Amino acid sequence: MVDILVIGGGIHGVAVARDAARRGLETLLLEKGDLASATSSRTSKLIHGGLRYLENGQIRLVREALRERAILLHTAPEFVRPLPFLLPHYAGRGRARWWVGAGLALYRLLAGGAAERSGVAAEEALRLAPGLDPADLRGGSLFADAQMDDAALCVALAVDAERAGATIRTHTEAIALATTADGRSWRAHFHDRITGTDAEVEARAVVNAGGPWVDEVRAMAEGHPPPCVRRTRGAHVVFAATPPRTALLLTARRDGRVFFVIPWGTHTLAGTTDVDDASDPGAVEPHAEDVRYLLEESAAALPGALAGARPVRAFAGVRPLARGRAERPWENSRESRVLVERGLWTMVGGKYTTHRALAERVVNGIVRALGARVAPCVTASLPLKSGRAESIERLRRDFPRAAEVAGGFRISEAEVAHAARVEKARRLDDILLRRTRLWLDARALREAAVPCAVWAAPVLGWSERTRSAEVERLLAILDREERAIDAAAGSGQAERGTRGIA
Ligand SMILES: Cc1cc2nc3c(=O)[nH]c(=O)nc-3n(C[C@H](O)[C@H](O)[C@H](O)COP(=O)(O)OP(=O)(O)OC[C@H]3O[C@@H](n4cnc5c(N)ncnc54)[C@H](O)[C@@H]3O)c2cc1C
Repeated sequence: MVDILVIGGGIHGVAVARDAARRGLETLLLEKGDLASATSSRTSKLIHGGLRYLENGQIRLVREALRERAILLHTAPEFVRPLPFLLPHYAGRGRARWWVGAGLALYRLLAGGAAERSGVAAEEALRLAPGLDPADLRGGSLFADAQMDDAALCVALAVDAERAGATIRTHTEAIALATTADGRSWRAHFHDRITGTDAEVEARAVVNAGGPWVDEVRAMAEGHPPPCVRRTRGAHVVFAATPPRTALLLTARRDGRVFFVIPWGTHTLAGTTDVDDASDPGAVEPHAEDVRYLLEESAAALPGALAGARPVRAFAGVRPLARGRAERPWENSRESRVLVERGLWTMVGGKYTTHRALAERVVNGIVRALGARVAPCVTASLPLKSGRAESIERLRRDFPRAAEVAGGFRISEAEVAHAARVEKARRLDDILLRRTRLWLDARALREAAVPCAVWAAPVLGWSERTRSAEVERLLAILDREERAIDAAAGSGQAERGTRGIA
């Protein structure tokens, strides 16, 4: 019997597992794929208050997100770092300068900061983002936010949860869930998708952190509950082009939506889109029209840097939004909701940025409901340290090989061994897409696939057949992505507006 069973190893599930384990609760987390393999590795990788949410009046969300941003910058500097943003102003288009100025003043106020001058002249805006369209540029506004490596943060929280005593099982799906005969606890049946083994567990409370699948998990427990999630697809593309010196908050010309162009090391990330998507969240991929939208808007905003540039990655994720009344997906509230149904705690909506606070709220509720006597929540002040670099350094003696791959990246055998031994990776894409920086560039991923599979095989006990299958699987993901890029890059502007990303 465990105190808490967590279903889902995205950011919300691992945050609950870490908080619960740190308070001394016996915790088991089941993740049917890899940690962060669904929404939590497909984000814009921002820890931000969300300036644009002020336009929809989501003041409470922005205030909470800014508070959490400060906490994460303080407790997890290895994963979250400050990122300056520039919002360029053009004559006759985009948001009016006075409107942006008022929004930024409120943003700073909500972050507990003082009002300060944020305006820059057009020359300075061009120095910060040399590729910007200079025509009618009147200057820009600067503000501060933060950037993270989403999958790395999620994995580090899971490893820390394990250090605190939680059990984390990846590639293990909860397949049945029912209350026990006396109605006081839960019995869950689960299936390891790699070994094919099944097992059962009893839990005093169950947390449903299934992200886009929260309604499927609720249905296992309850029959046919009315849906609580709205799924919208968001895509990103990555360019190998020299990144701007600051991130850019831009207005899409096609539909007036906000989108970002963000420096990511040597690469540039652009996103995102927002379209309702009722298809299987497990099979989400960028559509050609998503990629086309991002290519057109990025090229229009930064013609000097991105016109005609071909992305080196394209990826998409599904937002598990708490279903609201807004008609247009991007106007749906990003606030979180916690549903408590006969002792099943479902987390829906919310932002990556606010994961810690939401986890604290859920664990507080469960502690009260169970009448458990446990230590108080410590996650607002507990430093998150991975020890990754030191561990990889130690492994170099036994795992000495390394390879230089495209895009200026390097991958080492010790990194692969660490991913498999410590970071709970069990498949090749777990290692390459979510434990290394190679996610930025498909060319690097293709080149690294075979050597990494060779290095991972003895650590993970793969036969030669499994090794080849793992390489094929990764290449198939990259091939599908490439086809979406080809379709978008090949069709140019011709279909603009025919099926609004809007
Ligand atoms: C395009 C895009 C950009 C975004 N950008 C940002 C951003 O920049 N900043 C920000 O703060 N937020 C951002 N978000 C929002 C943020 O990513 C999400 O709020 C967050 O990742 C949701 O995490 P989650 O844990 O709820 O869901 P997920 O990450 O989807 O995790 C749910 C997990 O549950 C598992 N699961 C489901 N059913 C079962 C089962 N039966 N058994 C076992 N496991 C199961 C799934 O495999 C999955 O891994 C963005 C979202 C998208 C889509």
